[in-house]
Amino acid sequence: MSESENNIVYKGKCYCGAVSYAVKGKPILSAFCHCTLCQRLAASPCVATIHFPADAFSWTHAEPHESAFEMYPVADKPWKNRFRCKTCGACVTSYSTTKSKYSVWAGQLERDEEGKIKNWESIKPTAHMFYGTRMLDFNDDLPKWEGYEGQSKRLQ
Ligand SMILES: [Zn+2]
Ligand SMILES: [Zn+2]
Repeated sequence: MSESENNIVYKGKCYCGAVSYAVKGKPILSAFCHCTLCQRLAASPCVATIHFPADAFSWTHAEPHESAFEMYPVADKPWKNRFRCKTCGACVTSYSTTKSKYSVWAGQLERDEEGKIKNWESIKPTAHMFYGTRMLDFNDDLPKWEGYEGQSKRLQ
């Protein structure tokens, strides 16, 4: 990885823009997640989730930050908190208290003039995880895992 990739800042926001954040540098993980929790939360076959260490994440909307969002624990995962915008209701990120990392969705990241996510090559998913519960087959070259990447059975 080049030195410059360590300094790339990715901006993200909720559906209405009242809640916004920035993450910096190289992700811990970037993958398409096909788990049933993500499917229910996003009402989508999968999400592109990107994990960052806690110190790489910061809120960027007006202070006090807490007044713009609500925090709630994830069902069945009490160690994980989610944040949703009080105005539009969109979920913007989750924070794992056990792993001290934030998870953001690529779909909420800043776009260029053509609608492409900025610096996508440096951040795009490198795997499919929880592929066993997929709603859609992907015919790409990325590795496909039953559960978490590298910690479960590789399916393809
Ligand atoms: Zn919003
Ligand atoms: Zn998931």
